[in-house]
Amino acid sequence: MGDAGLRLKKGAPDPVPAGSIFGAIEAGGTKFVCAIGTAPDALITEDTIPTTRPEETFARVADFFRAATRAYRTIEAIGVAAFGPVEVNRNSPAYGSILATPKPHWSGADFRAALASLGAPVIVDTDVNGAALGEYCLGAGCGVRTLAYVTVGTGVGAGVVTNGAPLGGAGHYEMGHIRPPRDAARDPFAGRCPFHGDCLEGLACGPAIIDRWGASLADLPPSHPAYDLEADYLAHFAATIVLTHRPDRIVFGGGVMKAAGLMERIRVGTKRLLGGYAQSDALAGDLSEFIVPPALGDRAGVVGAMLLAAKSRS
Ligand code: ZN
Repeated sequence: MGDAGLRLKKGAPDPVPAGSIFGAIEAGGTKFVCAIGTAPDALITEDTIPTTRPEETFARVADFFRAATRAYRTIEAIGVAAFGPVEVNRNSPAYGSILATPKPHWSGADFRAALASLGAPVIVDTDVNGAALGEYCLGAGCGVRTLAYVTVGTGVGAGVVTNGAPLGGAGHYEMGHIRPPRDAARDPFAGRCPFHGDCLEGLACGPAIIDRWGASLADLPPSHPAYDLEADYLAHFAATIVLTHRPDRIVFGGGVMKAAGLMERIRVGTKRLLGGYAQSDALAGDLSEFIVPPALGDRAGVVGAMLLAAKSRS
């Protein structure tokens, strides 16, 4: 048994409320958070496993769920909120596999095949769709019809949930790769996206900030020009999401958003870019109720993964 099993208490398991047990995996580029629970807000136990090579990480994930099954009971379904790109079309033979990615070793890594021996259905969506679902059902999106969730961290991405379902087309959305205008005089940085250079992710992700200024945004003084530049790119993103999806609210999460005052600057920039167009109650005022931080904090992903599992069995 790997380390995962050690997190479960020795001896008789804690009493578990009646009902089905679901599994959740928030699969990130640096770590996998695995959990079981009877509901998204009733987790029983969890463990964090580093993202190394697929065969190693998947083996430890499977160990965790095997130990959980032994200690409690059969897992009904496992939800995965995965870094992408990942095949989310359930009719595709590649459903549940990571698609071509610059992340070494992970192109083609197949969640459903790797976890098949557990005997539970595995439902796979993107990390941002999982987080959007978590915030929609149990966080900052409670009560709204359409919620967008944006993450700004090692990458930039967004998911949109309408009426409880993540939206997508032939594949999941790739909104983080839109091309905001870049003024080369103001921002000579060519961007770091391996596919597009100066797409939004290439310009505004956390590593792009470090590439330019040698520090993360939160470690730069609020008067540093990095703040306004970052806010302008992200305001372009928010305005684009407003124009294409008309959400009732946009949640901005991820490590870069922890920089003090960034959220307020994005609100101001979004208001300016919309120019009074696309009016609604949500877009009146200073947008303090429209562009908001995650209510679930860093938990949105694992909560969303468990929602994917629970919804699949309801
Ligand atoms: Zn790109």
